[in-house]
Amino acid sequence: MTVENPRAQGVPPNMPDYELARRRFSWASARARLEGLPGGGLNIAHEAVDRHARGPLSDAVALRFLGKRRPQLELTYAELKRETDRFAGMLEGLGVGRGERVSALAGRIPELYIAALGTLKHGSVFCPLFSAFGPDPILQRLVLGDARALVTTVALYRRKVAELRDRLPRLEHVLLVGDRDEIAAIPEVKDLRALMDAAGAAREVASTAPGDMALLHFTSGTTGRPKGAVHVHEAVVAHRETARAALDLRPGDVFWCTADPGWVTGTSYGIIAPLALGVTSVVDEAELEIDRWYGILQDQRVTVWYTAPTALRMLMRAGAQVAREYDLGSLRFIASVGEPLNPAVVVWSREAFGVPAHDNWWQTETGGIMVANFRSMEVRPGSMGRPLPGIEAAVARRDEDGLPVLAPDGTLALIETPDEQGELVLAPGWPSMFRGYLGEEERYRRCFAGGWYLTGDLVRRDADGYFWFVGRGDDLIKSAGHLIGPFEVESVLLEHPAVAEAGVIGRPDPVAGEIVKAFVAIAPGGEEGEPLRRELLAFARRRLGSAVAPREIEFVASVPRNRSGKIMRRLIRARELGLPEGDVSTLEGG
Ligand code: ATP
Ligand code: MG
Repeated sequence: MTVENPRAQGVPPNMPDYELARRRFSWASARARLEGLPGGGLNIAHEAVDRHARGPLSDAVALRFLGKRRPQLELTYAELKRETDRFAGMLEGLGVGRGERVSALAGRIPELYIAALGTLKHGSVFCPLFSAFGPDPILQRLVLGDARALVTTVALYRRKVAELRDRLPRLEHVLLVGDRDEIAAIPEVKDLRALMDAAGAAREVASTAPGDMALLHFTSGTTGRPKGAVHVHEAVVAHRETARAALDLRPGDVFWCTADPGWVTGTSYGIIAPLALGVTSVVDEAELEIDRWYGILQDQRVTVWYTAPTALRMLMRAGAQVAREYDLGSLRFIASVGEPLNPAVVVWSREAFGVPAHDNWWQTETGGIMVANFRSMEVRPGSMGRPLPGIEAAVARRDEDGLPVLAPDGTLALIETPDEQGELVLAPGWPSMFRGYLGEEERYRRCFAGGWYLTGDLVRRDADGYFWFVGRGDDLIKSAGHLIGPFEVESVLLEHPAVAEAGVIGRPDPVAGEIVKAFVAIAPGGEEGEPLRRELLAFARRRLGSAVAPREIEFVASVPRNRSGKIMRRLIRARELGLPEGDVSTLEGG
């Protein structure tokens, strides 16, 4: 059965036949759909901006910014070219070199997007930092990234960066956005706008090669210290193709990616992919607020919406009737990434929006979407879908220690039987694959075995080729001979009306090895206590069976998440066992 939104009638999916698209696909032909630079060069900013600025889309809106307090601001492709030309010219004037890092620490304001694309145009490397980071994580990432320049705002500079300056001798230029007089009063910084104006107009895009470093992205730090993943200019081939296939994006769309460019989603799909496809992107500076979000979907006439499970869960909690108060008739496609999407949310989304939420899977290292539920395919709630055209995915066997199992000839032992769980592995070679962890060669090398990239995530594949997320390798619970993914348990607990949040870990146990323990935050109106605890234990046992259901439940005020919304189970575990908390730089509210 094809799930079709009645509103999308007359708009056929970009990829009507998955099998056919897979068979016909080649990265070489995907690359040929880009313009490229003379002599075989490739530059993300050229494909995202200049190409359209010189063509029929020149006056189309590229980015529409919704400010927290400011009026809406639009940049057409032609205007975005002018602005990014100036930014690139400014970097040249400052003497920032090719391949050198330009970091940005700012909310979702126009200058952040201009800085990203202007940096790429200049041939330097863009490194976004999440604006809610405190001084420590900022320092750590600026040092690791060896930043030469930083773009930030007056307020963020004063609050977080000023105190770090003497520990950042390599950071030569701090470029501020804000009031001219306020900037002039800080001696050690420069006025971004004034320098851009002085840099003047049009310039050539740097003649970058496809394999030249373009982006440095830090991972979310869910499982440990964040890693700096290196991406190159040819990643744009994958950004564009995957957005076409998995997000159904096309020119004329109004696209809203709610992720912050501080995380890879907010750059790959919040900046690059929609521009490379000539789409209009809506950028909202504010954080999630239910009425504001529905208002944006309605008033901006958003056609494709890319968001995260936490956001969808919040909207779900407010109820489908809230969604119905708005005219969401333009919405053709909803996708979600970052965490497992609970089956209940997929079902709810169909009820509230008339379109199911389509889960897709990828990570900072893969640079783009790898596995997805496509518009033309039946959605199986709870599954993350099937590999994209051009992506070969398999399930690999792991040994007791979680290491890949290699045959004597060096090949990886793959699991062919349906529904058996193992590690998700990908055949290297797609254009947005990371090319290293900055300064950590050995760690990078360990991500590959037997000719495959090891994702560190555990999955199973059903008989029809759909992949199901089981858990992160590190989070898996081994209890009395069973391997249990915490997500499955959390997902069931969340279906109980009294549960607002749930985080599940394995607690060491002399008999079972580990037992499943759940940390539960209660929904408003619920009452903590023995009766509820017993009810939840029974509820979970009924749904999951006694081998998988939690043996212990502890009530907590909230479940620790990192700033990209992921549950930090390693932190729950460390707190439970009284162990050191490790790197908490990305902890929400931390
Ligand atoms: P770190 O690598 O620093 O521990 P992280 O893995 O959370 O942090 P990201 O690259 O932002 O950093 O996140 C990618 C991970 O998020 C994936 O490896 C996977 O564990 C999880 N993830 C992403 N999408 C999905 C999805 N659709 N379903 C389940 N898990 C997902
Ligand atoms: Mg990771």
